[in-house]
Amino acid sequence: MRILVTGGAGFIGSHLVDALIEQGHEVVVLDDLSNGKREFIAGLEENPRFRFVQGSILDRPLVRQLLAECEIVYHLAAVLGVKNTVENPLKVIEGNIDGTRNILEIAWENRVKVIFASTSEIYGKNNELPFTEQSDRVLGPPHIHRWCYATAKALDEHICFAYADKGLPVTIVRFFNTYGPRQTSTQYGGVVPKFIVAALGRHDITVYGSGEQTRCFTFIDDVIGGLLPCMDPAFDKHAFNIGTTYRLTINELAAQIKRLTDSASSIVHIPYEAAYGPGYEDMQNRLPDISKAEGMLGYSPRTNMEQGLSKTIAWYKDNEGWRSA
Ligand code: UDP
Repeated sequence: MRILVTGGAGFIGSHLVDALIEQGHEVVVLDDLSNGKREFIAGLEENPRFRFVQGSILDRPLVRQLLAECEIVYHLAAVLGVKNTVENPLKVIEGNIDGTRNILEIAWENRVKVIFASTSEIYGKNNELPFTEQSDRVLGPPHIHRWCYATAKALDEHICFAYADKGLPVTIVRFFNTYGPRQTSTQYGGVVPKFIVAALGRHDITVYGSGEQTRCFTFIDDVIGGLLPCMDPAFDKHAFNIGTTYRLTINELAAQIKRLTDSASSIVHIPYEAAYGPGYEDMQNRLPDISKAEGMLGYSPRTNMEQGLSKTIAWYKDNEGWRSA
């Protein structure tokens, strides 16, 4: 297959591209390098089945040119990160809504299958756990920027389902706190790389709020295992939760990373306001029901936290340059 991967130089994208090339596909990566790193795909640049194009999903002529050559697009390019969401709402809304609408509109012109990367955030502050694919969205008010990413991604899903109704093959995956090698820390700000970088640098590991909030962290290799089968037309017009059901508190995560890095860092707690400004509403718990992905995609997350964190820590030890990226 000829496959376009938007955001293919990013954390999840670059791992997906490795797997697609490994499977024998031809891959074109479109990435504006706002968050993606050329180095993550550097090993593929000599491969005749690989091509990198630096550009934006907002550039319609470019997207049109690339989609005309492909049969499938994995649309992973997004403007994300909690800090980005609270500080740059317009960038988050424009990148995620205008960008995704471009991809869908142009995919429709060319009848290209779309696999759309969505997020557990679309369930909003629903407290009824676990989240199934049919669960309600409970969104906060529009004047709180924190909800603009969730809202933009949810609108993207509406666009996906609307095109799916017209007959476009579309599959949606909702990621739950993916982590692993190549997840850099400063721009995106995910908690796992932030804690690892702090622990290795012997800086304070900073927990926001009580630290008793839970997440189900999902290792990148398992996520890729859920993404690959989505190419099959049998999964058109479906959304899938891609996560794990193992819940960890942020306090436990901090302690585990401190132990695995043998770090002298202190674990300190600060209020949410100090990190994200006033009015930040954190999700206290987030737990997916993954039985649909297990049953249909054959998805089966196998990496436990200790294994996944050890691999991620090893990557940061081997690639010291990314600690400030
Ligand atoms: N968090 C934290 N310290 C940090 C970054 C994040 O305690 O330096 C917490 C954050 O408040 C949230 C959890 O870790 O409860 C996961 O945060 P992340 O930004 O990785 O993703 P989220 O699940 O909030 O989208």
